Amino acid sequence: MAGTKALLTLENFINGKFVPCSSYIDSYDPSTGEVYCRVPDSGNEEIEAAVEAARAAFPGWSARSPQERSQVLHRLADLLEKSLEDLAQAESRDQGKTVTLARTMDIPRSVQNFRFFASSILHHTSECTHMDHVDCLHYTLRAPVGIAGLISPWNLPLYLLTWKVAPAIAAGNTVIAKPSELTSVTAWMMCKLLETAGVPPGVVNIVFGTGPKVGEALVSHPEVPLISFTGSQPTAERIAQLSAPHCKKLSLELGGKNPAIIFEDANLEECIPTTVRSSFANQGEICLCTSRIFVQKSIYSEFLKKFVAATRMWKVGIPSDPSANMGALISKAHLEKVRSYVKKARAEGARILCGEGVDMLSLPPKNQAGYFMLPTVITDIKDESCCMKEEIFGPVTCVVPFDSEEEVIQRANSVKYGLAATVWSSNVGRVHRVAKKLQSGLVWSNCWLIRELNLPFGGMKSSGIGREGAKDSYEFFTEVKTITIKH
Ligand code: NAD
Repeated sequence: MAGTKALLTLENFINGKFVPCSSYIDSYDPSTGEVYCRVPDSGNEEIEAAVEAARAAFPGWSARSPQERSQVLHRLADLLEKSLEDLAQAESRDQGKTVTLARTMDIPRSVQNFRFFASSILHHTSECTHMDHVDCLHYTLRAPVGIAGLISPWNLPLYLLTWKVAPAIAAGNTVIAKPSELTSVTAWMMCKLLETAGVPPGVVNIVFGTGPKVGEALVSHPEVPLISFTGSQPTAERIAQLSAPHCKKLSLELGGKNPAIIFEDANLEECIPTTVRSSFANQGEICLCTSRIFVQKSIYSEFLKKFVAATRMWKVGIPSDPSANMGALISKAHLEKVRSYVKKARAEGARILCGEGVDMLSLPPKNQAGYFMLPTVITDIKDESCCMKEEIFGPVTCVVPFDSEEEVIQRANSVKYGLAATVWSSNVGRVHRVAKKLQSGLVWSNCWLIRELNLPFGGMKSSGIGREGAKDSYEFFTEVKTITIKH
């Protein structure tokens, strides 16, 4: 382990200044298992300071025109883009994902989040209607809510943080963001760019630390009327409890147990590589990843054979290896949790066709204590098994056969989650029918993870409350008022 002096030490960013903290948490490099960074272990005191800064900055920032705020967002996007390579390297080291993925997805999308909301904020209109019989004109006005509390997870650190910061400040709010304590580095790097971009002190405050300590201090603060949260369902429950006495506005983007439904008329040439990617991209640590694959019986054997062969080609490697498709999982505890699901499946009599416990993973000596795991395919498993019901959030996917359209819809809907589904078929009528009946906030057909940021994003059932996107985020980050004038 490196000595304390060599460790990267982060500081909170409050009122436009970096502020040291009195205590710190160790942060690990997932590819080596070594501590490499210290993250502030903030609490009530830091939240109080951030609230004071955000409160003071609110009148000035909310009074700026959308055009002025838009320019600031564009400048920040440009600065992030200039630092793309440094941010990608840092994201990979902090999270365990490959540098290639951070360079081609996480950081470009973070840049895009600012550009997108810089543009969309200019195009909202309010509503207006006239009631002839009483001579009344009705119209709506929208205003920023105030101080927005933003809590984000570790799987797509900068990408999901900026997906909240950008719409919140574009709409005129000031924010206090709390990234995951496991992946705080790129948020801290972004803070260094805020002043140059023209973000006034106090508009964006970032406090680092754990959920139970600084997260709860933020959620419970009476002057933070709105919480936008992305993370797990148990944490969402706790946030909802803490927010209830204050009637806070809540947006909850939670987990999934996402089905892929593969009909016999699917184009397997496209379906197989996409389903390997949808199962194992980012080590399976994306809320939208596929983890239950239903395959129509007539093509089941063929699919399984080809899918397992393609999974074996999905290379696990050190994150800097350009030929690696997958890096390390986020933490030792998470790796153990993911492995425990495979163990349970085996104990229940399911078959593990490749990956964990079946194939050998070879790593350089330096990375042998890293949190690596092979992509794993499970079959002969019952729908009632925890591997088919619970979110594993790792490189594990289950493949099972089905007979009919009605049956597969019912089975796909039989979990508590409802985030994302994919449907593979060349029959357009069937795709429309199935998409309509699936209990899922997002349905992709013959593709995966193609995003139109204008349209609603989010889940139903235990996958969340509310949606994000151009109009949805704008509505969430503003309060609406209806005005009626009789003339
Ligand atoms: P998590 O719930 O453990 O943590 C998320 C964030 O909440 C972190 O910043 C954490 O510190 C904070 N937190 C934890 N306890 C808290 C508390 N008591 N009060 C306030 N804040 C608290 O989730 P995670 O493990 O970081 O992320 C993985 C989960 O996120 C998965 O379930 C995944 O599906 C979900 N996710 C959902 C989406 C989506 O858009 N729907 C996107 C990415 C991840």
